[in-house]
Amino acid sequence: MQIRTRIAPSPTGAPHVGTAYIALFNRCFARSQGGRFILRIEDTDRARSTAAAEAAILDALRWLGLDWDEGPDKNGSCGPYRQSERGAIYREHIDKLVEKGDAFPCFCDAQRLATVRQQQMEAKQQPGYDGHCLSLSQDEAAARIKAGEPHVLRLKVPEGGTSAFHDMLRGEVSIDWSQVDMQVLMKSDGSPTYHFANVVDDHLMGISHVIRGEEWISSIPKHLLLYQAFGWTPPVFCHMPLLRNPNKSKLSKRRNPTAIDYYRDMGYLPQALVNYLGMMGWSMPSGEEKFNLQQMTDAFDISRVSLGGPVFDIAKLNWLNGRYLRENLSPEEFATAYTQWAFPPEKVRRLAPLLQQRAERFCDVATIGAHFLTGQPDLSPDAFASLIAKKAGKGVEGRKGEKTDADADAAADDIKRILQFTLWRLEALPDFSAEAVESCLKQLANDMDLKIRDYLAPLFIAISGRPASVSVMASITLLGPHLTRARLRQALTHLGGLSKTQAKTLEKAYNALEKP
Ligand code: GLU
Repeated sequence: MQIRTRIAPSPTGAPHVGTAYIALFNRCFARSQGGRFILRIEDTDRARSTAAAEAAILDALRWLGLDWDEGPDKNGSCGPYRQSERGAIYREHIDKLVEKGDAFPCFCDAQRLATVRQQQMEAKQQPGYDGHCLSLSQDEAAARIKAGEPHVLRLKVPEGGTSAFHDMLRGEVSIDWSQVDMQVLMKSDGSPTYHFANVVDDHLMGISHVIRGEEWISSIPKHLLLYQAFGWTPPVFCHMPLLRNPNKSKLSKRRNPTAIDYYRDMGYLPQALVNYLGMMGWSMPSGEEKFNLQQMTDAFDISRVSLGGPVFDIAKLNWLNGRYLRENLSPEEFATAYTQWAFPPEKVRRLAPLLQQRAERFCDVATIGAHFLTGQPDLSPDAFASLIAKKAGKGVEGRKGEKTDADADAAADDIKRILQFTLWRLEALPDFSAEAVESCLKQLANDMDLKIRDYLAPLFIAISGRPASVSVMASITLLGPHLTRARLRQALTHLGGLSKTQAKTLEKAYNALEKP
């Protein structure tokens, strides 16, 4: 049997380090046994998938050196490798399931489903479809479909008992059928859901081993039902432990830098990042911590993966990256690599007019533009002090007695609100062009009822580390989404962070703002 593995990202956001981690292990597993590693784009969610996000995923994986043997950009005998181009295949396959009675039409509308869900929640039952349309006769269902009534197609699920299966790392796993929902396989617009397209494609693409994140383990019973209904042999399943923060919480893009591009923008070497991802729950038999992709592939043994919840620790990654800089590059190579990172011609071209406006001598450029060369600006302990004092009405010098500490706290809270709202707005901004950033920030200032100057003042400090610098909007555009968000988060932490209650209150207030 030929070993075939795949990475199947959905192009709905910035490429995630978790995708690179899973791609790495799939690639090592396949290549260590002379197999093939496939890239499949799972863009069934048409509203959220974009060509730009797909291109960014391909770029990020290429940057890391995690190349693939078959994919949307390569020839292969199992294409197309983009699900949006496989509509006819899914339609042909769903028809078979409906004919055999393994899938059934469901006409329930959103309102009915919401009511059922509400009742289940109140009764503390497992939420899921209640099987309402299962009782329709074939003739009635056929007549309603013929009359053009909107409907989805759902998977029939056994009523009692358990689904038992084998996972390469976890051994025997069993899940009660009562926990398994009658999954929608085809949406009312005739497009497939993840579960359906994923199983059909894994089979048709000859995937022998499905290696993916542990969040998918609860989907296996549904997937196995589909394999069984089609009469196909399922692949071997292997669910990898999720990456965690040092405090064991899950890496989350709202709280942590999870974008691969963030690590590129911060000046990590791709080899070091791949090496570090290889250390996530896995180790070389020799115990050596520094290894390259080829060495990892040569020594790869999936049974060495430990399920302990690998910790993605930036401090450890920094240490490893430092070793690569010192041990893998000659001074000439270091100089070249640094120059390419710090002064790519396109960045310099865009920066020049900004710096030119403010510098009197070339020696001023380093000060004015320092924040374009740092990962995070160094915020001094009193970085926001004068702004807080000004807002609290104390004046920069501070006149004791007139205003209280409570005013200063309120002023700091105002600043945190600005930073957090900006973070949320920018998270939702798909396009980071100068125009888009400018109109997004102006709109937010307007929604918050703030003069643009007052709104931008804390952003200046968060982004540049100084009270004044080149245009903060231009800085944000040039730094890009990942560094910008990390800086806003750093500034929030610097101001004491947000308690859970504060975060909730802010979220409410944010949701109540006029949306652009
Ligand atoms: N498209 C899914 C994702 O984005 C793939 C999950 C799988 O590997 O089956 O994670």
